[in-house]
Amino acid sequence: MHPGPDDDPAAAGGAAARRARGAAPRTPVTAHAEAAGGPAGRDHPYRPRNWALWRRPPVLIVFMLGLEAAAIAVLAFSFAHSAVPGDRDWINFGILAGGATVHIQLTQRQEERRRNKAKKVLIDLTAVWTFSAALILPIPLTLLVVFLIRLQHWFIARRPAHNFIFSSITHGLAGAVAHLTYGALGPHLLGQPGWGGFWHEAGTIALTGVVYEAIQILYVGGALALGLSSEPTLRNVLGSPADNLLEAVTIGLGAVTAILLAVVPPMVVVMAVATVVFNRLAELDQLQNDVRTDPKTGILNMRGWSESAERALERTARSGDQLALLMVDLDHFKWINDTYGHPAGDDVLRTVAQTLDEVTRPTDLVGRFGGEEFLVLLPDIDEEATWDAAERIRTAIAKLHIVTTDKRGDPATIADRTTSIGVARHPRHGDTLERLLQSADAAVYLAKENGRDQVCFAPDTVTRPAER
Ligand code: GH3
Ligand code: MG
Ligand code: MG
Repeated sequence: MHPGPDDDPAAAGGAAARRARGAAPRTPVTAHAEAAGGPAGRDHPYRPRNWALWRRPPVLIVFMLGLEAAAIAVLAFSFAHSAVPGDRDWINFGILAGGATVHIQLTQRQEERRRNKAKKVLIDLTAVWTFSAALILPIPLTLLVVFLIRLQHWFIARRPAHNFIFSSITHGLAGAVAHLTYGALGPHLLGQPGWGGFWHEAGTIALTGVVYEAIQILYVGGALALGLSSEPTLRNVLGSPADNLLEAVTIGLGAVTAILLAVVPPMVVVMAVATVVFNRLAELDQLQNDVRTDPKTGILNMRGWSESAERALERTARSGDQLALLMVDLDHFKWINDTYGHPAGDDVLRTVAQTLDEVTRPTDLVGRFGGEEFLVLLPDIDEEATWDAAERIRTAIAKLHIVTTDKRGDPATIADRTTSIGVARHPRHGDTLERLLQSADAAVYLAKENGRDQVCFAPDTVTRPAER
């Protein structure tokens, strides 16, 4: 299922690319999602013989070419049966094309940054323009808007041509079918003041948005599921809830743009500004996430973990519940680096982080303390359950068979790794995060001294009276 390493950055680097679940790049796969990849080929990448497309899995090649052919047939048919654009259509087209160009040009550098981070697919937010075009313009002009947007993106995206063409055709088809859907659901009162027919109009636009979205999911999601993504999980194929929300808002803004265009065309300038700001907000959201995330393992870093842990601790203090903190330290981790190399060590860290995530409850907080040490905060848990949780983690790590590479790049499997886990409990070992961390750390040292590969509770003597 793996595409050629030339095409997919996530497939490059062998074991290093086998990321933990949490480290998987966010792959929004909804409208205006776009397949990404690496350099397109060796010599003369544009010669048909050298197309990166042929290095894809056969089922994916058939899927992409088949759906492209179907899309082109639909586009040709609807193009031929479309009304000839009138003067007002051309003016609307000019405004939308201008707005889209302002949006793309003013967010170009930012988009490049976002694209480099979201390694596979990305919502590009230009649905604001394409969707409004689909609502208000005849099909030939809708396709022209899509074409102008894609042309400008070609110079920003730098993706393999077959991915880019596939995405572009998908955008065109989604626009055309949305247009036909909207037309079929008429008559429309768009642009007429008052509440008459408001709900009907809102319902038709929402339904059109769903159709627009469904086509994108079918095309891009299908291609990802069939091998364009090296990790075709449901989340990667359908996008995360946040990605889909972002997409829904983008389509909503597209509807607003169409209404403005019908009622007060000059106000579309406001939409151009709004989309630029919206783009920035989308990037801010990603940056906020990055600040809290450990890039190597994809779990919370110390900053993100501490913030959430402080909140959990406050809740516990208020409710009078108990809480446990586990410090998980991999035994003889340095030996792994020395024997197999640092990339193999990194693979172990990623797999352990993923395992911690899997064997804990959704309300537990898993973070990377640093190096080969992890923290798990277990809210609302008694002493016996704490012990069980820590033992579950210890045995889960011991059972791992981590497939990686050795120093020469040959395949290697790392197994039978042991772990020392230190446990501190609130309120017994402290009622501040700092104190609990000290206690858990002391417990880890106890576990190491006692021969490693075990869970140790913090000694009560570490506890000093709480500072007030
Ligand atoms: P112990 O059983 O006493 O815990 O021994 P240890 O080898 O696990 O502990 P030690 O503190 O001696 O070594 C930790 C090693 O972890 C040293 C450091 O190079 C390595 N390390 C820290 N961060 C990373 C990382 O991000 N990736 C890799 N591959 N190694 C790391
Ligand atoms: Mg250590
Ligand atoms: Mg260690």
